[in-house]
Amino acid sequence: MPAGEKAARKVDLDKDIIRPLISSGKVCAYRSTEYVKDMGTPERYEETAEAVRSGLVERKNLSGKQKCIFLDRDGTINVEKGFLNNAAGMELLPGAAESIKRINQSEYLAVLITNQPVIARGDCSFEGLDEIQRKFETLLGREGAYIDSIYYCPHHPDSGFEGEVKELKFRCRCRKGKSGMINDAARDLNIDLSASWMIGDKTSDIKCGQGAGTRTVLLETGSAGSDGRFCITADLVCRDLPDAVSRILSDTGNENRKN
Ligand SMILES: [Mg+2]
Ligand SMILES: [Zn+2]
Repeated sequence: MPAGEKAARKVDLDKDIIRPLISSGKVCAYRSTEYVKDMGTPERYEETAEAVRSGLVERKNLSGKQKCIFLDRDGTINVEKGFLNNAAGMELLPGAAESIKRINQSEYLAVLITNQPVIARGDCSFEGLDEIQRKFETLLGREGAYIDSIYYCPHHPDSGFEGEVKELKFRCRCRKGKSGMINDAARDLNIDLSASWMIGDKTSDIKCGQGAGTRTVLLETGSAGSDGRFCITADLVCRDLPDAVSRILSDTGNENRKN
């Protein structure tokens, strides 16, 4: 075959290279919070080139300190329904997916920080929680949004109830108002907490963020800070998640939207 003819053949990375290599056992995959983009069309190539020029690619690199928006789940992203213990009850709040998509397009990571005492209470198994999370991520994915990493606390401090999972009933270091989950994420993802935010609808979310050294936003959705567990003053009080994300991204000039 003439050399020119060979060079002109189109090669598809997925079909021609990765798939044939899978049977060799030498193909690996991993999740990454760094800048990853399919640039297989001229438009996407231009977007990626712009991200290189603006420094976004360099900044979304784990070798440098990352900025993060930590997000509570229930009452912040999805409708608060008390103790949610089945996937059918998972329902996103209006505008929540679009807000998370805006975070995804910015310099900030989107990391979920959620208390799930339903596990310790015996109301939901770990498999059941996985199923709820998959529904949650599917609903977000349908609108082009994703969560970079998920941290949840399955514990609960008060024991002595019927049906509970005894080994999960203790005073852990991760349950919000404590800051264990944010501190774990900061260690795992090289996050600069002083340049980061925690958004939630309960006083425990604000206490958790402040304990870790982030700035905080209390939302008027969900329980709207009426739980009375902690005496707190958030840096911002916002109507809902879209409002909070707009305030954070416009205040800090960190929006990288194309449209
Ligand atoms: Mg909440
Ligand atoms: Zn915990």
